[in-house]
Amino acid sequence: MERICLDCGATIRGRTDKKFCSDQCRNSYNNRINRESNNFIRNVHGLLRKNRRILADLYEEGKLTVHKDALFALGYNFSFFTHVIESSGGQKDHYCFEYGYRETGNDFIELKQNSRYIDYQ
Ligand SMILES: [Zn+2]
Repeated sequence: MERICLDCGATIRGRTDKKFCSDQCRNSYNNRINRESNNFIRNVHGLLRKNRRILADLYEEGKLTVHKDALFALGYNFSFFTHVIESSGGQKDHYCFEYGYRETGNDFIELKQNSRYIDYQ
């Protein structure tokens, strides 16, 4: 069976477990994979930082109860958060780092701050 290099597509000669035609192709392939993965991490981290900034600004201004639309208007993305802390009452608070919120119904949220160390499983 003919094997082709994962990077350049050239036919590979030699050992049957080789995936690349040369060290150069292996390096270029791995660098590309790392770059794509780093871009993804950077983008997600950017979204989380932006969310955190929005929550932190409102919290520091003392606006502890906010309509979700106000967060949308500021560019908040509800799909991204770092963790969830479940209260003893079963409420799930979504956090972006040390700032978070709890849904209180009617599309309002209550802002939270919690920078205690928590042992996440
Ligand atoms: Zn190659």
